Amino acid sequence: MLKKKMFIGGEWVEALSGEKRSIENPYDASLVAEVSEGSREDAKKAISEARKAFDGGWGQTGRKERQGLLLKLAELIKRDKEELANLESLNTGKTMEESRWDMDDIYNIFKFYAKLLDNDFTEKVQSPIPDSTSIVVKEPIGVCGQISPWNYPLLQASWKMAPALAAGCTIIMKPSELTPLTTVKVTELAVEAGYPPGVVNLVLGPGHTVGAEMAENHDVDLISFTGGSLTGRKIMNAASGNIKKVALELGGKNPHLIFDDCDFETAVDYALNGVFFHAGQICSAGTRLMVQKSISGPFIKALKSKMEKIKLGNGFDEGTEMGPVISKEHLSKIESYIEVAKNEGAKLLVGGERPKDEALRKGHFILPTLFTDCDSSMRIVQEEVFGPLITVETFETEEEAVTKANDTIYGLSAGFWTNDLERIERVKKALRFGTVWVNDFNTYFTEAPWGGYKQSGVGRELGHLGLEEYQETKHIFQNHKPAPFNWFGKD
Ligand code: NAD
Repeated sequence: MLKKKMFIGGEWVEALSGEKRSIENPYDASLVAEVSEGSREDAKKAISEARKAFDGGWGQTGRKERQGLLLKLAELIKRDKEELANLESLNTGKTMEESRWDMDDIYNIFKFYAKLLDNDFTEKVQSPIPDSTSIVVKEPIGVCGQISPWNYPLLQASWKMAPALAAGCTIIMKPSELTPLTTVKVTELAVEAGYPPGVVNLVLGPGHTVGAEMAENHDVDLISFTGGSLTGRKIMNAASGNIKKVALELGGKNPHLIFDDCDFETAVDYALNGVFFHAGQICSAGTRLMVQKSISGPFIKALKSKMEKIKLGNGFDEGTEMGPVISKEHLSKIESYIEVAKNEGAKLLVGGERPKDEALRKGHFILPTLFTDCDSSMRIVQEEVFGPLITVETFETEEEAVTKANDTIYGLSAGFWTNDLERIERVKKALRFGTVWVNDFNTYFTEAPWGGYKQSGVGRELGHLGLEEYQETKHIFQNHKPAPFNWFGKD
């Protein structure tokens, strides 16, 4: 069994309390690791070390040095890709292929932010004052708390880690208590890359203690969080004590609109891709399917037939298409939503229960599930289930589809399928979401920003905006011929 510790001020340490947490494989609930279980005291120590490192010189480190370290770390991630992917699949249950995609993305993220450091971000402003210069420079924001979720453990952590280190911040990472393994491993790689003590810190443990301390502590200048909207709200409140900067990537309930003039086969394929990767545990999953009435019958039939063939199993086995959900508690939450849907009058067409296969009984599996006869007033349509479950609504007109799609507290992502060029222009403008896919779904890449409208978040990750989250802007005005103004103290 793997044994994993925290990394604080350049030392691998056990929790001050000596407590441990067992980490399981969701495929069969077997124990795979024992990790230190930190508390508020450990978080305070890590924050103080990050503060010391930032104020003690790291905050002034030149961009070429930061660039070199990021590139080194990228290469180490590439070198250890297979080990990282193994740990990710072991801890989340997702297929090895998906974990390998994540690791390739993570390598690209570190390379991308290193490349952005070719620029020194200094802007010369045309000063209206004679004999003066005015420049705008970017500086690191300071000490950053970074809290990540369990669905894409290292991917989400790297969306934060790479730009923060590029900007010249010091960081305290806190992975989800359920999925710490790859974040521990990447911390080992950061040590190998040569980051000085106190720059990269790792604390493990529960959100309501360790995470809450990071959100509250006045020595933290920015808190970046990815997770549920309820937790996001708590973090926003906690951060108000010292008005620290807040970056939030929260939940979503993402509409996926299918117009009757679409490429039918491809749209069916993407309706599945949009939801069933990683068993639907994707913030941008297209779980709210909206199909034009004229094609809804054949579309639902095609979906049903493909969903019934999805192969559930061990993420390490060749041929597995979908793994388990993360935990027993999360499985119960999904099952309770299935009951909610039935009670609201939605019609269960596929799945809705655990698989009968004996080999899957120990793990946290639920069959791909499809409800029809849904409408936007239902909780099952409005609330994030975060599992392999699709609700289907139908619509008659484009206007109706857009109005319904925008009728949500969330605003992370949406997609639509049509071959009508004029409709594309209208609908892409009308949808109020941070990402809109046209004849596609769930495609993202490092170069473009990611984030939500409305209650799906604050700020953006990825792209150059992802770096700007971690930068302060300073205006430096220099007067080259200072002379008395003679306003005050005249005789
Ligand atoms: P969660 O909110 O339960 O936990 C996320 C992290 O916050 C964990 O590390 C947890 O320990 C910590 N935490 C919990 N309570 C805390 C508190 N009071 N103070 C500080 N930290 C606290 O979310 P989860 O269940 O791990 O992840 C699933 C959620 O994440 C979904 O809602 C999903 O949509 C969202 N998500 C969003 C994105 C995005 O890009 N917008 C990406 C991935 C996941």
